[in-house]
Amino acid sequence: MVRIWRSYPAPASLAIEEEKTNGKYNLADVTEQLRRDFFDKCYICEIKPVTDPEVEHRLPHKNNSVPGRKFNWDNLYWSCRHCNLIKARPKYDSGILDCCKYDPEEHLMHQLQNSTVAVSAVDPFNREALLAAELIGESFNLKNSGIRIAACQARLNELQKEMGKLYTALGKYRDNPESKLCRKNVQVLLRKEGAFAAFKRFYVKSHLDEYPELADFLV
Ligand SMILES: [Zn+2]
Repeated sequence: MVRIWRSYPAPASLAIEEEKTNGKYNLADVTEQLRRDFFDKCYICEIKPVTDPEVEHRLPHKNNSVPGRKFNWDNLYWSCRHCNLIKARPKYDSGILDCCKYDPEEHLMHQLQNSTVAVSAVDPFNREALLAAELIGESFNLKNSGIRIAACQARLNELQKEMGKLYTALGKYRDNPESKLCRKNVQVLLRKEGAFAAFKRFYVKSHLDEYPELADFLV
């Protein structure tokens, strides 16, 4: 999960639809603005592009029974269906860390070790960060149905592929520290808008003793 800078004003349809009995919160102006703001990746698992996008409510509206949530632009997020369904369970209802308000990279540690995804909170007393860490972890590890086994494996495969690209780029950069191209290749992989950026950036952040000059790319 990376920091997202939500754009304003809110999509015009939200205020119009809110006045209707069965108004929609996912008309084209909403989905297009979300897709752009969220770099076309799921804000939870960071798969990119999202081929089965959904407009996710960070705080659930419970069939519009909780006022101010269903059509509230600040409560709408871009996620994949897999993550949206996992997050629908009540344990996440109190709200995961808001990536539009806080920088998740300051609060979460995203790690891939061998074939295991481990996400944890920096502060063990930050409830929202703990919930976000648990949710991101579940998006790779919750294998309680056939569909979820496949969806988790697909994400793990993509993550391993991206990390493989990063390790290769870092190796080439280490062997050719003067090469602008090698440095550029690392920089591109560390952009926040990229797939699984939080994992790649955390890896480099954890190895800054080997690559101190790459700190510039983590800003
Ligand atoms: Zn996802």
